[in-house]
Amino acid sequence: APATDHPQWIWRNGELTGWRDATIHVNAVGHASVAAVFEGAKAYRAADGERLLVFRLDEHLRRLYQSARICRLNLPFDVDRLRTAVLELLRANEYTEDAYLRPWAFPRGLIREQMVPAGADCEVVIDSWRFRSGLSGTRGVTAAVSSWLRISDASTPPRVKAFSNYHNGRLALMEARENGHDWPIMLNARHQVSEGPGACVALVRDGQVITPSISSGVLESITRDTALTLLGELGVPVAEREVDRSELYLADELFFMGTAWEILPVTKVDGLIVGDGSPGPVATALAARYQEVVRGTGGHPDWLTEVAF
Ligand code: PMP
Repeated sequence: APATDHPQWIWRNGELTGWRDATIHVNAVGHASVAAVFEGAKAYRAADGERLLVFRLDEHLRRLYQSARICRLNLPFDVDRLRTAVLELLRANEYTEDAYLRPWAFPRGLIREQMVPAGADCEVVIDSWRFRSGLSGTRGVTAAVSSWLRISDASTPPRVKAFSNYHNGRLALMEARENGHDWPIMLNARHQVSEGPGACVALVRDGQVITPSISSGVLESITRDTALTLLGELGVPVAEREVDRSELYLADELFFMGTAWEILPVTKVDGLIVGDGSPGPVATALAARYQEVVRGTGGHPDWLTEVAF
């Protein structure tokens, strides 16, 4: 509840405003907490019918609880309740096309509570919006290794999906854009490849897909896990290991993997053309498989939660 003994005025956007009137939409306020954790999931329209398929919803919700556990936040709802809430929201918003889902949890209370105590009572919000999938296109992006290192488990664990972590990725992104590249790839504290600001990364060399291991300063990405599974099914050998920066320069293919970016080929890295400069066969085959699976025609029904419309 808001404090009743607070001084009357607050300065906001150039003017003194009554403290009680200085409200903000719930969508904005939660992000301000240093301890806020969140998820990003997607619902795809099924290829073969009038329904949405939420992709790996339980894994996303499980990761939300893992992030909350590391941040010592207590979510006042269980996974079952949040799963139901997601489905309620999708139905209420009457989506008939792809939707992005944004659950997040943040401590109740005021922004002055910077050192949020362990076990703080939390609010949980779920928002959603329409998105357009890039999976059916033939896109390629450019990337550059950032001079900003990825945050490390020793200070700010990257496996926590906390808004605070995105300060790091944003610095790297602004540098990349300033230098004319689409996306940064960050090195970790050991100066080996970690990930992009919103996606994991993999390269292909001599037919093998190589991705930095889960202890290399990355989010435990659900798309990465999906990709490794689907590549296995396609008969492509995969390795999870430490990756050197110079391996990026010798790669036949390079691609990002994430809920928002899906499977996104990188066609230039640090100014070097990757392969022949267009999306390569492995990333293209993987993106096609990914598209089939998320739209319900590629197997793995256990990864899909159906919402009829
Ligand atoms: N790394 C970071 C930093 C991210 O923000 C994301 C997006 N959630 C990913 C990787 C990819 O994770 P996922 O595949 O679970 O979306």
